[in-house]
Amino acid sequence: MKVVALSREQVHQGNLLLVNKKYPLQYPISPEQIRPSEYSAVILERKTALVLETLLTTIGSGSSIVPVSGFRTHKEQVEIYDASLKEHGEAFTRKYVALPGHSEHETGLAIDLALNREPIDFIRPYFPRDGICGRFRSKAASYGFIERYQEGKEDLTGIAPEPWHFRYVGLPHASIMDAHSFCLEEYLDYLTEYPYEGRHLEVHIENKSFEIFYLRAESEVTKLTLPGHLPYQVSGDNQDGFIFTLWR
Ligand SMILES: [Zn+2]
Repeated sequence: MKVVALSREQVHQGNLLLVNKKYPLQYPISPEQIRPSEYSAVILERKTALVLETLLTTIGSGSSIVPVSGFRTHKEQVEIYDASLKEHGEAFTRKYVALPGHSEHETGLAIDLALNREPIDFIRPYFPRDGICGRFRSKAASYGFIERYQEGKEDLTGIAPEPWHFRYVGLPHASIMDAHSFCLEEYLDYLTEYPYEGRHLEVHIENKSFEIFYLRAESEVTKLTLPGHLPYQVSGDNQDGFIFTLWR
């Protein structure tokens, strides 16, 4: 067995962070954690960038898919929000541009993609469901990406459908969300039904087995014991707890 200790700040770190109208980003991502994409001037969280590059290479996208917008600093999100207010008005901006501090783009885990066809709309890029974009969609979950703002989930996400906005949540989470048609808000709720002290979620995906559970954070340090031999990953949910993923 091994003892793992987590600080309260870690609730606000990791690839399962929920950033929406209700839960703002608490800490900006550090400069060491971001990386420019090989495909464009877009910057992303390091792992997100690497996985996206692998996925685009795997589907042979070449220059047909363009990463339009990735990591944005808080200041950039403020500028985009203000520019959209001026250009498109309040109703449009509230629908398509997240409030500064509440944008997934500030996490470095989100990417807006466009089919490479002029003109490319910066706020609402065209990313259809067929062709090379369809190929990207069909593989996205198995690489850890989800289409974050889907039709029918507006009441939960607070954002209109955005078929161009993908969010890295990692494995096996994207596959589970895809199988259940969960948005991130629903998925994190679902995981609280599998607490550390109770029955854990067990999933089998492509010959791999995973064990997942939720642990509520203590006010300062949260401690738990894990099997010593299993690799694991932990992410905060940006609310009040941690999600543990064990590779069995
Ligand atoms: Zn976006």
